[in-house]
Amino acid sequence: MANEAYNHLGIEEPIYKRWEASGFFNPDNLPDKRKKVFSISMPPPNVTGELHLGHATGMTIQDILTRYHRMAGFKALWLPGTDHAGIATQIMVERLLQTEGISRHEIGRETFLKHVWAWKQKYGTRITDQIKSLGASCDWSREHFTMDPNLTQAVQKAFIILFKAGLIYRGERLINWCTRCQTALSDLEVKHKDIAGHLYFIKYGQLTVATTRPETKLGDTALAVNPKDKRYKKFIGKKITFETESGTLTLPVIADRLVDPKFGTGVIKVTPAHDPADWEMGERHKLAIKQVIGEDNRMTKLAGNYAGMLATQARDKIIADLQAKKLLIKIEPYTASMPHCDRCGSIVQPLISKQWFLKIGPLAKPAMAAVKSGKIQFVPKRFEKVYFHWMKNIRDWCISRQLWWGHQIPVWYCTDHFAIRLNCPPIASVAAPKKCKCGGTHFVQDQDTLDTWFSSGLWTFSTLGWPQKTKDLKLFHPTSVMETAWDILFFWVARMIMFSLKFTRQIPFKKVFIHGLVLDKEGKKMSKSKGTGIDPLPMAEKYGTDAIRLSLVLGTAPGQDFRLSEEKIAGYRNFINKLWNIGNFIDHRSADNTKGAAPKASLADQWILNKNQALINLVTTDINNFRFSEAGQALYDFIWHELADWYVETQKIQPNQPVLLKVYEDSLKLLHPFAPFVTEALWARLKKKDLLLIAEWPRAEKPKPSPAKDFEKIQKFITQIRNFRALHKITPAEKVPVYLEGTGTKLLLANREIVEFLSRAILVPTAKLAHKAHGHEAGVNFWLEVPKANLAQVKKALADLKAYIQSQSAKLQNQNFLKNAPAPVVKNEKRKLAAAREKLKKLSA
Ligand SMILES: [Zn+2]
Ligand SMILES: [Zn+2]
Repeated sequence: MANEAYNHLGIEEPIYKRWEASGFFNPDNLPDKRKKVFSISMPPPNVTGELHLGHATGMTIQDILTRYHRMAGFKALWLPGTDHAGIATQIMVERLLQTEGISRHEIGRETFLKHVWAWKQKYGTRITDQIKSLGASCDWSREHFTMDPNLTQAVQKAFIILFKAGLIYRGERLINWCTRCQTALSDLEVKHKDIAGHLYFIKYGQLTVATTRPETKLGDTALAVNPKDKRYKKFIGKKITFETESGTLTLPVIADRLVDPKFGTGVIKVTPAHDPADWEMGERHKLAIKQVIGEDNRMTKLAGNYAGMLATQARDKIIADLQAKKLLIKIEPYTASMPHCDRCGSIVQPLISKQWFLKIGPLAKPAMAAVKSGKIQFVPKRFEKVYFHWMKNIRDWCISRQLWWGHQIPVWYCTDHFAIRLNCPPIASVAAPKKCKCGGTHFVQDQDTLDTWFSSGLWTFSTLGWPQKTKDLKLFHPTSVMETAWDILFFWVARMIMFSLKFTRQIPFKKVFIHGLVLDKEGKKMSKSKGTGIDPLPMAEKYGTDAIRLSLVLGTAPGQDFRLSEEKIAGYRNFINKLWNIGNFIDHRSADNTKGAAPKASLADQWILNKNQALINLVTTDINNFRFSEAGQALYDFIWHELADWYVETQKIQPNQPVLLKVYEDSLKLLHPFAPFVTEALWARLKKKDLLLIAEWPRAEKPKPSPAKDFEKIQKFITQIRNFRALHKITPAEKVPVYLEGTGTKLLLANREIVEFLSRAILVPTAKLAHKAHGHEAGVNFWLEVPKANLAQVKKALADLKAYIQSQSAKLQNQNFLKNAPAPVVKNEKRKLAAAREKLKKLSA
């Protein structure tokens, strides 16, 4: 195997199996008594999900944290799981059944749910298998699914506690309603898309109103203007009566800051039942609510003449009626941002619906205090401001969904077999209650299910056994870190904080680390249709998983979006190869077996040991402070530019096997959390008894005062000689004399063997240089004897260069050229001239 390039295929899978078989992903099995605990809950991906770069980034960072803490002696737990993803899963299975010509309504709830479970059984491990392929060292024995029996129990318990505390109520509120999916949607399930439409200018008596949705005008309960808008001051607080498409109407005119004076005429109609902003104004001004569009997307009875029509039909009819009455002033083309159902793409109807709500105020207060007091810290800190802003403006949470797949709401209604007895209060209970206050003994359960985020809000503690008082809960909660992207910060992170404080009286996590989103190489959002998307799995197949992991961490900053390209991934594959080649070299050395007494530490040994110690300190501090990119970059630079480029080279002439091995092993350990596969494979080649997975993290010590500066002087000298040789086209095979004078001569001679080997020069100390020095470095002036054959070459090169400089200068003095050439071209020509002059200076030195 030695001397071959690293081939990840055939290496990664067996290594992952060895890790799993070792049992060390489970903290209970880790060796030694471990007092310190580290725990992290995996944000559960949707069970329908396919691994994308967002997951890959988050999983890599969580794995770095877990592997590092495991090696640093912590009882480290990374608890994985998946989310049942109510609407996403339901729609997928619905579509699957549709291809067989089956509708869910035909087969009914129970049979439909059987189909969903069967789907989950068959495909539910797809996403977790993909996560495993990334090298994720999660404790799969503790894996959970949000609809596992114990998690369902936790959901019911939580609901009943909140219900009994009076925090859950049933109310009619404006919600996002998908007329296709026939369910309420959370804000996260609604995507805004620009739709080209029209702006209708309609006469409302003395005033003119511009609207994009004339069909909702039947639900108007006020007109509104901005309080600062002087044009309409006299109307504020008055009532106006006017002609409409269907008779006369009287509406109050209110003033509200939500009205944009620049939109349309500056007067808007207020329809609280069909628009979120209007709903808000309606609450503020206590306006009447008139719902004219129903859940089936048809006009309601309140729509009078238009009742029963589809909303779009009603719009056409209303326009025609307005035109007939000369109430329509004009129609302009207008592009408006319209809410769409994220799952099925239908336009979302904001409307009033009877739903379950969670009173959020009493939960938000302690959740804000936990962050304010520093008990929970955000990294980067700037997201705390966003969190407070969101929490201050938080509204009651609509928690019911008209879906079948999910946790059915544990509320029961008293019924007389035919209809629900409306006078009997609903009862919150896991099983059907025995008896109602009225004496009734028949109950039906609420048909709705809970918003998916309700169960994921309990995630950090329900997965550890809550509501039971388990050992795990005591040991691992609060968790150490929550790692997530900023886009779900509030849908999820905030809810976990509120729920954890309410149910466990503990914070759910001490730190929230936020990673950025991945952009394409131009810094734009990746898009599959534009072909700028990068799929992590094929990339891992091509370049190896370690290369992907490095490319998602290095060159990034917490909370900031970052760029990724295939070239970047390929670059890290080269780095992995470099490391692999060091491994080949070490194998080769061990085979040579240079045993015997350890040699005295050379300057190079002292230098690399010193650098190694500094690296341990840096990487440890950086990981502890979530500076993953800095830690990875430091490792990259050390392994490539110090260990491979310099130290390994010195080993060819001054071997010190113990030092080489010590530094190499430390490098493997430090790099392991970032690139687990290649490091574990190289570790195995060292014939170690235990896995690198549980090797002890190198100790961070105070750096010693450096005795290694001298080696750096030598490095600089060698680099100078190498540059000079390159300039004069001297091949590496040619050994050339270098004459030295000056105080640094002593140091170079003391390390003659290494200097001569690495510079391919013969050192010749001399009292005074016979020629002008070719350079000054490390306290010496040096002159290098260029072989005759090269001198002729150099002479010709010099002549060519001079001629080039002359013609280039002439070009740049030519006024015609300067006048006509574009500025960047001139700049480039100037740069070429400067470079040539610089080369000439060096060559004639
Ligand atoms: Zn939909
Ligand atoms: Zn009853």
